[in-house]
Amino acid sequence: MRKKMVAGNWKMNLSSTIAEKFTREIKDKIDTDAVDVVMCVPFVHFNMISEILKDTKIKVGAQNMHYADEGAYTGEISGRMLAAMGVKHVIIGHSERREYFRETDTEVNLKALKALQNNLTPIICIGETSKQRKSGRTFNIIRKQLAFAIDEMSAEDITKVVIAYEPIWAIGTGETATSEQAEEVCALIRKQINTRFGNWSSDNVRILYGGSVTEENAKELFTMPNIDGGLVGGASLKPSFENVVHYDR
Ligand code: PEP
Repeated sequence: MRKKMVAGNWKMNLSSTIAEKFTREIKDKIDTDAVDVVMCVPFVHFNMISEILKDTKIKVGAQNMHYADEGAYTGEISGRMLAAMGVKHVIIGHSERREYFRETDTEVNLKALKALQNNLTPIICIGETSKQRKSGRTFNIIRKQLAFAIDEMSAEDITKVVIAYEPIWAIGTGETATSEQAEEVCALIRKQINTRFGNWSSDNVRILYGGSVTEENAKELFTMPNIDGGLVGGASLKPSFENVVHYDR
């Protein structure tokens, strides 16, 4: 049985004052053993948020990392540094990083491998644009992005990875994929993992859906057979995040 996961992605939002207030508001409301809850916050808030969440079920994650351990990479933060801070999860290859920071499939793979080396769970994002979907290329794009992202991984590695299917047209737009559209692609991802690594890996790897998840649509999406939870942007900044996590109540 795969445990569900709901990961919030704050992106570059919330001042430290508002972040502190919000975290204090939601921390006791989120109380479940059925779902792994991760809040991926800006680097500068790690210590403060970790302290507030230390006795709760919510873990603090990162939104990005560099693939080198250390060196002359101004402005970057390594997986080794994240691990040393007690971080356990890191989003890799979010479409905003691919688009605005020109992150390539090769870099996504290097980062994911380095995250694993540091005992971090990489939440690897893949997804098609609206144009690619409309021209019938969704499956090919997903197959290619996934193959690159998990290159050089072993059958065991892949069970420690989380894949987030995030159609770019659904991110921050309010246009959620239907549960059938999301399930179809998540099933394809699991099948590809099965073909490469076998049943044990494909049964255990967690695959999330992300793209305008809200308290209204979470249940329908997260109860599809191949969807193991969600990566949640906008709704992770609101008190209703509680209801996304507790989608089954
Ligand atoms: C995201 O940031 O990964 C995301 C899915 O955002 P939103 O939920 O706002 O669409």
